[in-house]
This record gives sequence, structure tokens and C-alpha cells, in this order.
Amino acid sequence: MEYYVCCGVVGENSMIDRSKILDLARRSLKHDGVHHAQWFITRKCNYRCRGCNVWMDSSPVELSTEDVKRGLDILRDIGVLEIVFSGGNPLLRDDIGEILDYASKYFITTVYDNGSLALSKIDELRNVDFVAISLDTLDESKNDYLKGVSGAWRRAMEAIEALKKEGIPVGVSPTISQMNLHEIVDFTRYFTERKIPVWYSLYAYDYQPAKGTFSIGKRNDEYEIRDGNALAEVCDKLMSMKRENGYIYITTRTLEAVKHLALTGERIWRCKALKSFLVVDHLGRVSGCHCKEPVASIFDLPEIWRSPMIKRLQKEYSYCTDCIYLCYIFYSVHAGLTGLLSILFDRWESIKAYMGK
Ligand code: SF4
Ligand code: SF4
Repeated sequence: MEYYVCCGVVGENSMIDRSKILDLARRSLKHDGVHHAQWFITRKCNYRCRGCNVWMDSSPVELSTEDVKRGLDILRDIGVLEIVFSGGNPLLRDDIGEILDYASKYFITTVYDNGSLALSKIDELRNVDFVAISLDTLDESKNDYLKGVSGAWRRAMEAIEALKKEGIPVGVSPTISQMNLHEIVDFTRYFTERKIPVWYSLYAYDYQPAKGTFSIGKRNDEYEIRDGNALAEVCDKLMSMKRENGYIYITTRTLEAVKHLALTGERIWRCKALKSFLVVDHLGRVSGCHCKEPVASIFDLPEIWRSPMIKRLQKEYSYCTDCIYLCYIFYSVHAGLTGLLSILFDRWESIKAYMGK
């Protein structure tokens, strides 16, 4: 799935230069607000994943390069520190190199690829902070089945290896579902032993697609996690592995939240849509998350950002329990300045444990 966050890239293999870190620190002190943005920059995709609605509802229309840059300036001005480009497959855009270079100057920048294009776009990826390749299993035929195209597994593995060789920060991002739940620990071990970071998505689908800004997750009974105890055990195992492994980028706090949800059905977090995070779609429409209606065009954001309407929606969304997209859980449990600090602390604990081995 092409949705994700990774403030966790601030780690021992971070490529972020010192002046950018200072600028990010200064902005984080100035704006204790929306720090994370996901930009679904295109609706086009060359894969046919079975748990995804994007390719079924593709569109060739998207913002121009200059408009994307103008939008990035606005996000920077309202305090966004981290941007994740996803879609669709953002690497299908011809101008993706120019967009990534521009974004990388100001934000911790992550871009997603389903593994099909990174190899042919290495030069465009040189300045990003993290390239996330989505791959769901070590089983080649199963992965190709899930992605809906043959050769997907092989292309993704080749891309990961090539990017690593080129010194581009690359990691893998499996979507945890019932289809791979029992493989996730071994999958994680395989990549982290090769010093390749792992971040996760959690299979989710949009309950009321028509009511949102756009639709991503498609209901698929094969994917839906039926075994909450097994999911909780995976969370436990990953938390334990993190104590001696600096390459698992999901935070302990996020894993605790997912574990509690899996065992009890209860949330130990309140959603922070429009408060800690927002999303932008391929047309430049902004919403708290993709499941909610747009609140404005990105170009109108400066005028409405501090309005009573936004405050009202922040409050309304804080009681929402309509989805379990992992990136939104992560943004919510790590909201605000203290949330950012807790991410850094989590990364530091993992690295310390790993170095002390
Ligand atoms: S999950 Fe990602 S790669 Fe797969 S069809 Fe959807 S947008 Fe494309
Ligand atoms: S829980 Fe939050 S992220 Fe999920 S649908 Fe509700 S407002 Fe959106």
C-alpha cells in the first residue's frame, strides 16, 4: 500500500544534513501543530493490488509541477516537517525528480514505490530521505498474487538491492494482513539482518468510500485480520526485536496501540487528523484523512488554517473511530512536539541497543 510515514528515518543511517535538521528543529519549536503530511500526488498506478481501490478509480488529472511546489511552500509555512509522497505510484510522474528535490530541501521526505520503478529512477531518488518499497512477503508467487501482476516480487527485490548499493536510504514496507500475518516476524528478520529497515502498513479498508476525499483500501475478506491474538503476538515480537535491532522503524508506542486494539478492540489513542496530520490528494484538495471530505484547496489553506471550522473538525475527528490505517495511528500517538521527541527517543533506544550488542 502506498501510504506511510517515517519520521523514524532519523536514525543512525540518516542522510539528513545538519542545516536541514536545524531548520526542522526551529520550525518544530515555532509550530506545535500539524507536523506530518501525506501527499497522494497521483492517482495513477501500474499495479493491481487486491486490497486497493486506487487502480480501480484511476485518473490522469493531477497538479502541475509548479503547483505542487507552491503547495509545498504552504505546507512548510504552516509547520509541516515531514512529507510522504504516495499515490498511486508517485514515480509514474515524469516530474517526480524535480518534486522530490524541492521537497527534500525543507522536509523529511519519503517516497513510495511498489518496486516497479525505483530502479529506473535512481537519479530522481538521490536526495530523498527514505524510499519505501512495498513488498508483502518473501514468497514470490504469493506476493505477485497480492500485487496482481507477475514479476512484482523480483522487481522489488532488485530495486531494494540496487538502491542500497547506490547508497540511497531504502526500506521495505509490507502491509500486514491475514495473508502474511504469520510471516511478518521472519520477513522482518530477513531484511533487518541485511541492514534494510522495515516499516509496516496494516490492512484496512474504507467503510464509506463515497463520503471521503478519495478511496484507498478495498474490502477483501482474504486480507481482513481474523486472529487478533496472532496480531498481538506479532506486535510483542517486534517490540522485543526492536530492543536489539535498529532497523525496525515502527515505534514501540504504535505497536502498543495496535496490540491493545487487537486484544480488546479499544483504542488507547484519540485521532489527531487535522491536528497532527493532514492529507493532500492529486488535485490539491486537503482533508484530515482520505476518509473525510476535503476542507479546502491547498492554496486556500493559509486563510482557513486557524479558523473555527478547522478547530471544530479537529474536535470531531478526535472522537472518530472509523479506520485503523497504521500511518494515522502513528501520527496520532506521536502528535505534537512531545510526540516528535518520543519518536526520536524510540529510535535512539533501538540504536543504542543495537550498538551495544
Ligand atoms: S496498493 Fe499501491 S501499488 Fe497497489 S494498486 Fe494500490 S496504489 Fe498501486
Ligand atoms: S479515525 Fe481519524 S484517520 Fe481514521 S477515518 Fe476517523 S478521522 Fe480519519
